[in-house]
Amino acid sequence: MVENMDALISLCKRRGFVFPGSEIYGGLANAWDYGPLGVELENNIKQLWWKRFVQGRDDVVGVDSALIMNPKVWEASGHIATFNDPLVEDKKTHERFRLDHLLEEHGVAVSGMTFEQMSSKVQELGLKSPAGNELTEPKQFNMMFRTHLGPVEDRDNVVYLRPETAQGQFVDFKIIQEQMRLRLPFGIAQIGKAFRNEITPGNFIFRTREFEQMEIEYFVHPNDWQKWFDFWLDLQKQWCKDVGLPESATKFVEIAESDRAHYSKRSVDTEFVFPFGQKELYGLAYRTDHDLSSHAKLSGKDMSYRDPITNEVFVPHCIEPTWGVNRTVLAVLCSAYEEVDARSGDDGAVHEKEVVLRLPKSLAPIKVAVLPLSKKEPLATKAREIATSLKKNWMCQYDETGSIGKRYRRQDEVGTPYCLTVDFDSLEDQKVTVRDRDTMGQERIGIADLTPYFAGLLGY
Ligand code: ATP
Repeated sequence: MVENMDALISLCKRRGFVFPGSEIYGGLANAWDYGPLGVELENNIKQLWWKRFVQGRDDVVGVDSALIMNPKVWEASGHIATFNDPLVEDKKTHERFRLDHLLEEHGVAVSGMTFEQMSSKVQELGLKSPAGNELTEPKQFNMMFRTHLGPVEDRDNVVYLRPETAQGQFVDFKIIQEQMRLRLPFGIAQIGKAFRNEITPGNFIFRTREFEQMEIEYFVHPNDWQKWFDFWLDLQKQWCKDVGLPESATKFVEIAESDRAHYSKRSVDTEFVFPFGQKELYGLAYRTDHDLSSHAKLSGKDMSYRDPITNEVFVPHCIEPTWGVNRTVLAVLCSAYEEVDARSGDDGAVHEKEVVLRLPKSLAPIKVAVLPLSKKEPLATKAREIATSLKKNWMCQYDETGSIGKRYRRQDEVGTPYCLTVDFDSLEDQKVTVRDRDTMGQERIGIADLTPYFAGLLGY
């Protein structure tokens, strides 16, 4: 587990996981780009999720809805009216802050406080900005990004970038249920970008204005909501284990009524103990029939469901488990990061510590590194042939530069579970050595057997 965020951020930048976006122009506050290894890690997370919750289940189907939706969607969902954060501004520097965060920093337990109560606390405490200046009156700030559709910027064509993927599932509920002839309980899953104009983004990729969510809207009979809530909580717990988050750092927190989102009757957050504190990683909410009923009301379209056996007609209720892709990347990296005593040796330099990313194999960006002992022919060609053949099934990296110790270390640092070395004996016995990242065990495997061998270890 990483202790120092700077060490992780530096590794991420150095090795092509995550780095500041548009850096040649000085970057843009809290915009991050995912490099060649970061995008593999993200894709592996999304693929694992999709396989588990869509492909692997009879009761969940997928959707990919438009990012910019009819603004009435956000009117019905309540986001235009209530998707607000309390904002204060430093009167001198004009820096803006989340009032709830500022109060927390001053030891005030903001949990359960209304906006009015927070505002009066400012007076009571004579709260100043971190620079010691007067603050403006608190105001509610709507976090949705607004833009205009088409060339004319007027009130009639205001649209919003979606602040959550979920509304796509709600507005498409009826058409998907009919297309796929689905019976309750069933879920609609979506992976996609969401945008929130956060007042104070930060902590690396933890809170950004552009991020990605993996959400399931699971529709149930209102009498069954508790059962399905518990069911999805168990699946979220299992997921945390499977992506390698230590149980000691993963907490499941019941959210008090006053702190719940406007649509939720029960919420349990999965929180993770990051180096900068215990923070929300995932959410689970009982959204009742709030969304379907609101859309039915505003659109005038029927959102009810007829039970084919009992003929009961009702608006389904919804359980929503939600996962942030970027926070998953961060928690997975924090959990996998380990500094060990130097173990690769043989490159002449003295290294006291080396980094090993103990990523679950399924998430590792590179599955197999192919390392010829020497650049000389015919060794290099043989190794390249092996890499080309393995690449049909797995992400492989061919690396012939530097000593073998240095190359092992480079792979350990990015979490590659297997390093395969091709040596001069390989030309004779048609075997290579496979080294395991975690056990450091080495095994001699026939070149012709490599595909079934790795299929056994990595799956396809
Ligand atoms: P927070 O309290 O941290 O602002 P939230 O309760 O508003 O989060 P949800 O609305 O429940 O978050 O969003 C679902 C998930 O989307 C979160 O659990 C998180 O993983 C992710 N998420 C939300 N906001 C951000 C953000 N600004 N940056 C990155 N991920 C985010």
